[in-house]
Amino acid sequence: DETNLSDQPILAYQPEFEHRYLRRLSIIAELKTALQEQQDELSLFYQPKLDLKTGRVTKVEALIRWNNAILGFVSPDDFISVAEQAGFIGKITDWVINQAIKDAVTLRNAGIEMSIAINLSAKDVMDQSLLPHLSLLMETSQLSSKALSFEMTESDLVQEPVKAIQQLQAFRDRGFEIAIDDFGTGYSSMAYLKHLPVTTLKVDKSFVLSLDSQQGDQKIVQTVIELAHSFGLNVVAEGIESQATLLLLKKWGCEFAQGYYMCKPIPFDDLITWQNTHQLTNWFEQDA
Ligand code: C2E
Ligand code: MG
Ligand code: MG
Ligand code: MG
Repeated sequence: DETNLSDQPILAYQPEFEHRYLRRLSIIAELKTALQEQQDELSLFYQPKLDLKTGRVTKVEALIRWNNAILGFVSPDDFISVAEQAGFIGKITDWVINQAIKDAVTLRNAGIEMSIAINLSAKDVMDQSLLPHLSLLMETSQLSSKALSFEMTESDLVQEPVKAIQQLQAFRDRGFEIAIDDFGTGYSSMAYLKHLPVTTLKVDKSFVLSLDSQQGDQKIVQTVIELAHSFGLNVVAEGIESQATLLLLKKWGCEFAQGYYMCKPIPFDDLITWQNTHQLTNWFEQDA
């Protein structure tokens, strides 16, 4: 509390500072090595998005996983921001894009219609060379623009709004769908949203996790769905952990749902098995 704080000089030695600093340094060093060498430390997991109109899954989100010999399993929430600050997020994005394209080709060749959403960071959005690079890779693999889509947060876009809009428009012109991720947690204005060339809003999971019991969250999510629709945008809700939540979202006209209730993020090989097993599952019935 406050009394304790004022007792201590601000720069007093604090073991947890040193610990955090050292952990950051090892994350940077280990991650750079993992990206350079083919050590199989990094992998892409996939989480299905359920189409609430058809009850089928034709979209997934790619989520990076990192298992390091020294640090163990490190969450992307911990290492993505470190890589952003240390200036090599582009290397991670390249790795993710290459892996996602390989997996998209496998899906296409297996005759499975499944679009993969890739998370981008602020630096990626502003990187002029990303889209030409991506286009070339997709042409080489003969993938249509429907095979991939992109997610980015509001805060990634508001730093340089005019340039962000130009960059997003270039992605749209190339045929890619774009979602604003974690919608509701940032602070972009409605006026700005009007100008954003995006196709989708993703409601942040903090409003969805307890949706079945929280009246306040219910009002927020209903309002976001109405707002999105009035702008002609689709809505994806993330963090669905119960059937009651799923049914509310369906009732309110939300287009897609993603969450542990249907499926946690899983390795690519398990995705095809999951898809086969759940092709006929009725998620809206009593015992899905
Ligand atoms: P995000 O893009 O908002 O991804 C959704 C996160 O919510 C994922 O966490 C997912 O596992 C989790 N989630 C989904 N459904 C549920 C649920 O029902 N309950 C709960 N409690 N959680 C659920 P994850 O995989 O740990 O990723 C965290 C964040 O790291 C992502 O948030 C994204 O911002 C970032 N990230 C992940 N992969 C990448 C990547 O390849 N590139 C970049 N730039 N960022 C990534
Ligand atoms: Mg995302
Ligand atoms: Mg999110
Ligand atoms: Mg997030």
